Amino acid sequence: MALNMDIYLHNTLTGEKEKFTPITDGHVSMYNCGPTVYNYAHIGNLRSYVFADTLRRMFEWNNFTVKQVINITDVGHLVSDNDDGEDKIEKGAQREGKTAQEISEFYTQAFFTDLDQLNIAKENISFPRATNYIDEQIAMISELERDGYTYNTHDGVYFDTTKYPQYGLLGHINLAGLEEGARIGVNNEKKHLTDFALWKFSRGEKREQEWNSPWGVGFPGWHIECSAMSRKLLGKTFDIHTGGIDHIPVHHNNEIAQSVCANHAPFVHYWMHNAWLTVGEDKMSKSSDNFIRLETLAEHGINPLAYRYLLLTARYSSPLQFSWEALEGAQTAWKRLRTFVNSTTTESTPTKNTHYINEFTAYINDDLDTPKAIALVWEIMKDSSLEEYEKKEILLQFDRVFGLQLDHMETFDIPENIHKLVTERDTARKEKDFAKSDTLRIEIEQAGFEVTDTPEGTKITKK
Ligand code: AMP
Ligand code: ZN
Repeated sequence: MALNMDIYLHNTLTGEKEKFTPITDGHVSMYNCGPTVYNYAHIGNLRSYVFADTLRRMFEWNNFTVKQVINITDVGHLVSDNDDGEDKIEKGAQREGKTAQEISEFYTQAFFTDLDQLNIAKENISFPRATNYIDEQIAMISELERDGYTYNTHDGVYFDTTKYPQYGLLGHINLAGLEEGARIGVNNEKKHLTDFALWKFSRGEKREQEWNSPWGVGFPGWHIECSAMSRKLLGKTFDIHTGGIDHIPVHHNNEIAQSVCANHAPFVHYWMHNAWLTVGEDKMSKSSDNFIRLETLAEHGINPLAYRYLLLTARYSSPLQFSWEALEGAQTAWKRLRTFVNSTTTESTPTKNTHYINEFTAYINDDLDTPKAIALVWEIMKDSSLEEYEKKEILLQFDRVFGLQLDHMETFDIPENIHKLVTERDTARKEKDFAKSDTLRIEIEQAGFEVTDTPEGTKITKK
């Protein structure tokens, strides 16, 4: 396989596409901002994790080992960006009449199920929960306080963003414009609009989730968890940090400020951000009624992997408009590939074709140009100079990066009685009872399945 090809990534920090140079040869350390577990993830949120997973697979294709962390926010993410309002987890608990822990555990498991369905391998990833790293967060805030980066107000400990002159560099935030556009009613004790809470006090109201700290009983601000947990799990400086584009102006600039000031070291070399999944003009969001879950797709007969295919047809950094037509188109294309792979016989001699492998590598190494890689698949399918088995082999290679499980058949929605017919048919064929095998084929087809004969036996897919 053609390797040792350079990798280029678009870095939000510089606004440029840059050649990737790892901190440690052959190794990538990556942190992906994870879910706040007070509700189900919608398929827009899931775009972030498919993007991170594709990035990981691209590095593995290039023979890197990858250490990946996705945090689980189970405390401290407030409803408002101005460090006031309720905590999303506590609010979710009140809404559902459950404890905060029950809420976060339930939605964490729901998130894991979504990842499974999208073929994102959880066992390769660390999922630290913010509540398990309270000591690390307190330690980091103490370091910032010791070095003079913080001040206290009646409701919390704040980071003074003017103490970090590079504040707002990520995405080139127009700080003057922000101050001008500031609304009345924000926390008046905050010295500057961009200052943010590191620790919030419980202030008399009894919270379910609260901890003792040098500054009084309370809970961490949302941003500090990512700085504290990434330092603990990946070190002070690591290679890649990702998230949705909404995190650029506030969350990620805050992470940079805290980490650089506490660690006295560079934080992240490459910042990468995925664009929105939109419904019409609007971002799909948890708070509006355009919220679609992976489970909703299944109710419409759409396989989660067809959604994964749809995501690959757009660059991670371009907005993608959701529509049922687009999803159905994606499902048809994905099923065609799957059926092709499953009905084509494998030969023991590997294909000599390296040309397509090289082209594929060039596309995915070019800031994950998955739309070109997908277009290449269809070019290969039409290439009459290739044997079918060669096409299959190439497709299965590509699938290490696509993650579309092209060599699996849809067994999950095949009923037990159909499985029985398939087994009976395989026995009939082995015994050369072709009349019986044909009758069984018709019976299976009439139940709504397509039958393909392969050297390994009968394979079926849903029509
Ligand atoms: P949350 O659970 O709200 O913290 O969001 C989890 C991740 O999903 C974050 O990285 C967000 O930036 C991302 N995200 C939220 N909405 C969308 C969307 N409509 N399209 C793509 N990514 C999104
Ligand atoms: Zn984060």
